[in-house]
Order: sequence, then C-alpha cells, then structure tokens
Amino acid sequence: MTVSSLNIAKFGGTSVATMSAMRNCAKIVAAEPATRVVVVSASAGVTNHLVSLANTPLTQAQIIDIIEKIKAIQYSILQDLGKPPELSEKLESLLEALIDAAQHEELLHRDDLKDTLLSFGERMSSLLFTEVLKREGVNAENFDVRKVLRTDTTFGEAVPQLAEIERLASQLMQPEIIDKVLVTQGFVGADEIGRTTTLGRGGSDFTAALLAEALGAQSCEIWTDVVGVYTTDPRITDTARPLPELSFEEAAEMANFGAKVLHPATMEPALRQDIKVFVGSSKEPEKGGTWIVRNCKHEPPYRAITRRKEQVMVTVKTPKMMHAPGFLQQVFTIIAKHNLSVDLVTTSEIAVSFTLDNPANSVAEKLNRETLDELRDFCEVVIENNYDLVTVVGNNMHSAAGVSSKIFWSVRDYNLRMICYGANPHNMSFLVHQDDSTEIVKELHRSLFE
Ligand code: ADP
Ligand code: ASP
Ligand code: MG
Repeated sequence: MTVSSLNIAKFGGTSVATMSAMRNCAKIVAAEPATRVVVVSASAGVTNHLVSLANTPLTQAQIIDIIEKIKAIQYSILQDLGKPPELSEKLESLLEALIDAAQHEELLHRDDLKDTLLSFGERMSSLLFTEVLKREGVNAENFDVRKVLRTDTTFGEAVPQLAEIERLASQLMQPEIIDKVLVTQGFVGADEIGRTTTLGRGGSDFTAALLAEALGAQSCEIWTDVVGVYTTDPRITDTARPLPELSFEEAAEMANFGAKVLHPATMEPALRQDIKVFVGSSKEPEKGGTWIVRNCKHEPPYRAITRRKEQVMVTVKTPKMMHAPGFLQQVFTIIAKHNLSVDLVTTSEIAVSFTLDNPANSVAEKLNRETLDELRDFCEVVIENNYDLVTVVGNNMHSAAGVSSKIFWSVRDYNLRMICYGANPHNMSFLVHQDDSTEIVKELHRSLFE
C-alpha cells in the first residue's frame, strides 16, 4: 500500500451506538482497502453521562445509576456479539476502572481526573468496534491513541503537539497499517508524561484530521448521522439540503461558527496538508455526501447558515479609554492569556463589546469567569447573556454588491446586537436574542436558498 492511497475513517457517536449501527460502519471500512485507520467516538450518550459524573456532585446511588446507563449501552453491543470471553473481560476491566475513576473523591476539583474519566467512552467503543470489524473479515486491531496523540496539559481542551504526533504516528502506526486496520479513539490524547487529556467536545473529528495529517493520508472521511454538510442544521429546518462540495475555507468557517457536524479545528490539518475531507451518513452511504476540497467548481456568495448557541456579550468601558492608547491591548492581553477566542468585536470611543463562547460546564465557561474577574480590576464590565451567534457563510461577501442588503432585508424585523462584516470574505455574523435565532435562521434560509 502506498501512502498516497491512505484514508482515515471516523465514525461518530450515533454511528457506533448499537450493533446494527456498528455493522453499517464495518461494511464501509471493509469496502475501502485504502482505509487503514479508523477513529471512533464514544457510543451516543456515553460522553454526556461521563460529563455528568465528572462535573456534578453526586450521591453514591446517583453514580451507580449513571454507570448502569453506560453499561447498558455497551453491554447491549457485547450481547449482540455473543459475549466472546476475551472481549467481555476487557470491557469488564474498563468498566471497573471507570467506576474507580468516577468514585475518586477529588474528581470535582481535578481537571486531569475528569479527562481520564471522559476517555472511557472512546476506549470502550473502540474495543467493541474492533471486534465488529473482525467479524466483517477485516484484519483489525485496537490501538491506544494516547501512544501517539501528544498534547499539552490544557485538560478539557488540550492542544495537539503536531511534530510529536507526526513522529510518534510514523514510528508506531505507519508500520502497522501495512497489513492491518487500526481502530483508535477519537477525542483522547496524552501529555508528555502520559496523563490522559481530551480535545474538547466533538473532538473526534479533529483526531481523525490530525492522524490523517500525521500519516500523510490523502483523504479523511467523517461518517455521521446526516448525508453531508447541509445549507443549515437540518434540525432547524427540514428545507435544509446537503451540499455536494465545499471549500476548506467555507467548511472551516462553518465549523467555527457552530455547524456541529465538524469540530471547529477539523479543517486546520486538512488545509495544511491538502487532505480531502468527505462527510456522509454511515446509515446511508449510498446517498453520497459532501466533499470538502481546496478548490470548488462553484463559489456562490451564500453557501450556508450556521448558529452557535450560548454566547455572552461582554462590554468593557472606562472613561479612561477616551484617547487612551493601550486600553484595547490590555483587554485582549487578558483574553489571550486565558486562551479564549473572541468572534465578534465592536468598538466605540469609550467602550468595546465582544462575544465569548459560553456552553455550560465547558472549559470556556470556567476561563470566562477568570477573565471577567481580571477585567473588572481595571474597567467596568457589563455582561449580557441569552444570545446566539448567527453566521452566513459564502464567498467574496465583502466585495459583491447587494450581499449584505439581502441579508439585512431578510432579518429586518429582528434586533441584531453586534454585526461583523467585511474583515473576512467568507462570512457575515451577528448576535441575536436566543428566542429569535431559530426563526431568523429559517427566514434567512428561505430568502437565500429556497
Ligand atoms: P457525530 O456524533 O457523528 O460526530 P454530531 O452530532 O457531532 O455527530 O454532528 C452531526 C449533527 O450536526 C447533525 O445531526 C446535525 O444536526 C448537526 N449539524 C449542525 N449543522 C449542520 C450542517 N450545516 N450540516 C449538517 N449537520 C449539521
Ligand atoms: N465523545 C466525544 C463527545 O461526545 C467526542 C466526539 O464524539 O467527537 O464530545
Ligand atoms: Mg461530532
């Protein structure tokens, strides 16, 4: 096998939730000889259960109750596989280790223990999927991703160390994939001294892209529960339709601005190494999907609409800002120190407003609290909650006449709080009240795509 024909396939949570879903995935892998690395998510629901174990103070009975739910998901697959002794033993010992981890009394205060706990979902699903693949006649082997996916120690949102990943993957995976298919865990990594880390929710897509980059793969397939990337989240409107192709830039904007089908960082490795990314449904592979490539045949002004929920709008003011050089720098130095990404910014002479991502229980939420405390030390800080960020993604949006007026006309009945337009040819974003965002996306979709 030459490196140029290598494909990495990633299967998301619903794709590995049951035996029959796993069987669909196994058929996809078996049908493509270039697929030599398979990245799996935790079975649907498992990571959410693990997050509640990690983040909520629970009684012993509540802990047992949650673990039973996780066990039920994994055991139903084991049952369908006929409980082979070796596999049953391995799953049993993972579950025992999970119970130990969940009962660690310092769990609520230690981010490293939380990440170890969160890693069990992918460790269990990859074990089960390896067996399903073997039954499909594939020479599959389970591979612990922590041996190669080196990260820093930002638990919960760890940053991959690219050079190390490439070195380790070449050394430990490359020789194996000549005659085997390695089944490994998405979302999980390890720091320099072997402590388990995680890449942030939805991180398995990112893992697949990172391994594709490290191994010099030609393509990376993201198999999920929808037939590709759509014009907007098909859960918002059933008039959303799958897009046959997208450019790296468009996909990166969509992922960044809330299209959950791709983790925000997925396109970075693809862009660097020119790796084609395919998104399709593991349930209906025959329906095709979206190809994400460097150059598309068409570059329409409007391609898709995304929404990111749970945004906070922060306004910092100080009378001192009037003609005071350095104020903005001070504000953004604090934000950068906490590694937060700011999407929208608007400024006036004495105030600057920006948005922060704020999903409950997230690493960002915790960092936001620390950031805001530091800002309060030197300026007045006003925080407004309950906003969603709506983005129209497209091409040459800043230079074509009429692009913005069409968008504004569609949402003329709503109050837009912050508008960002012009800095990037691929998007126009604004903040809207969360109660309005569904209607706004539907309205925009009607006017731009239907
Ligand atoms: P997986 O578990 O396979 O990673 P996710 O739930 O993370 O799946 O992502 C798939 C979901 O992303 C879809 O079910 C869909 O609701 C949502 N989604 C949001 N925006 C889009 C979009 N533009 N196109 C397709 N799916 C989208
Ligand atoms: N299992 C992780 C999550 O649910 C990672 C993933 O599915 O991509 O967030
Ligand atoms: Mg996902």
